[in-house]
Amino acid sequence: MNILILGSGGREHAFSWKISQSNQCNKLFIAPGNAGTAAVGQNVPIGVNDFEAIAEFVKTNSIDLVVVGPEDPLVNGISDYFKADDGLNHVGLVGPSKEGAQLEGSKDYSKQFMNRYQIPTAKSQTFTKDNLDEGLNYVTSHPLPIVLKADGLASGKGVIIAETHEHARETLKEMLLDAKFGEASSRVVIEQFLEGIELSVFVLTDGENYKILPEAKDYKRIGEHDKGLNTGGMGAVSPVPFAKGDFIRKVEERVVKPTVAGLKKEGIDYKGFIFIGLMNMNGDPYVIEYNVRMGDPETQVVLPRIDSDLVDLLSATANGTLGKTEFSVSDDTATTVVMVSGGYPESYAKGHEINGIEHVTEATVFHAGTKNGENGQLQTSGGRVLAVTGRGNSVANALENSYNGIGKITWQDEYHRRDIGQDILKLLED
Ligand code: ATP
Repeated sequence: MNILILGSGGREHAFSWKISQSNQCNKLFIAPGNAGTAAVGQNVPIGVNDFEAIAEFVKTNSIDLVVVGPEDPLVNGISDYFKADDGLNHVGLVGPSKEGAQLEGSKDYSKQFMNRYQIPTAKSQTFTKDNLDEGLNYVTSHPLPIVLKADGLASGKGVIIAETHEHARETLKEMLLDAKFGEASSRVVIEQFLEGIELSVFVLTDGENYKILPEAKDYKRIGEHDKGLNTGGMGAVSPVPFAKGDFIRKVEERVVKPTVAGLKKEGIDYKGFIFIGLMNMNGDPYVIEYNVRMGDPETQVVLPRIDSDLVDLLSATANGTLGKTEFSVSDDTATTVVMVSGGYPESYAKGHEINGIEHVTEATVFHAGTKNGENGQLQTSGGRVLAVTGRGNSVANALENSYNGIGKITWQDEYHRRDIGQDILKLLED
C-alpha cells in the first residue's frame, strides 16, 4: 500500500514512525513533513491546503491511503474534494467530511450537536454583535469564572477564562466588536466553568463502528505548574490513572456512542479520528471540545502504546470495516516531553544547531520544528522542536526515560518543562 500523510509536526512524525513499521506499507510519503519524517519516508514539498497539488500527487504516485494530520484541510473540505473527483474517490482518506469537521471548526455547531444528543457539556449560549447587549446582560448575571470562546479556529488561543464580570464584558466586546480573533470571534460561545481534571479520549470511527484508543493527559501551559501562556502542548502522558473501569464506561455510554450515532443519524460522512476533550468532574465526564484529528503531542504517547498494525486500523476506518478489526494496547506508560525554542510561544529564533539526538537510546525522539540545514546539520525551524517519548512499566520509569533522553540533546536557548507527569504521580500516591 502506498500511503501519504499530510502535515509537518510531531504528530505526523509519530504517524509516519508507526506506519513505517507496518509490512503493509510499501511507499510512505509525508507532505510537507520535517527532518524526522524524512528519515522514515519521503518528504514532498506540498502544503496541506493545496488540494490540487495533493490530488495530482496521489494520482501519479498511486497512493492508496491518505492520513490527514491537522484540522485545517479537513475544515476546508479535503474529504469532499476527494469524493468529488472520479480519479480519487477510490482512495481511502482518514478524516471527516467538511460538515463533520465543523465539530471542531465551530464551537457553536459542536455545542448544538451535543445538546441535540444530550451529551454532557457545560451550559452555554452563543452571541454575535447583533445581540451584544443580550450577551453583556448574560455575562453580568453569570456565576464566575466565565468561559468565553471564539466560535471558529483560533489556534488554541480563542478561549478566555474571565475571573471578573468586568473582564468578561470587555472580552466579549473585544471579540465581537474589535474582531479580537478575526472572523473566528464573530460569534462567541459563553459557557459555564467546569472544575475538575482534564483528559483526552481518542476514538476512530468509520461512521458506523468505533474503537476507543488509549487516552492521554496533556500539558498546555508554557510554565511549570501550569503557569503562563497557552502553547500547542508541552507534554503528554498515557494512560491516565482514573480513566478506566467505571469512568471510561461512562465516557463510552454518554459521549462516544451518542456522538457516533448522532453523526450517522444526520447523514454526516465521518471516517476518521474524534478527539474528545473531557473534564472529569467528581467521576462524571463532561465534554469541553471535540477535535476532528489526533492531538499533538498526545499522538506521541498514544501510538507507541498501540501494539497492533496501525495500517489495519486506518484502512478499516477509510473502508468502513472497523467493526471487524481487532487491536491491542500495551499496559506500558508512555510519556512525552516537548523541547521548544526559548521565547516560544512568543517570538523565538530559528536555525540553531541541534546536537546529541544520536545518543538517545532510551527514548524515541519525534521531530516537529526541525529541518536539515545546507551542511546536513539538523536545525531548529519552529517553536515546538522535538517531543521525546519514553516508555516504561510505570509513570516514573517512562518519565525517567524521557528526561534522560532530553538530557543528551542540546541547542541554544532550548526550554522544556521539568514537571510533566508530576500531577499524575501525585494522583497515584493519593
Ligand atoms: P485547543 O486548540 O487548545 O484544543 P480550543 O481553542 O479548541 O483549544 P477549548 O479546548 O475549548 O478551546 O478550550 C481550551 C482550554 O480551555 C481547555 O483545554 C480547558 O483547559 C479550558 N476550558 C475550556 N472550556 C472550559 C470550561 N467550560 N471550563 C473550564 N475550563 C475550560
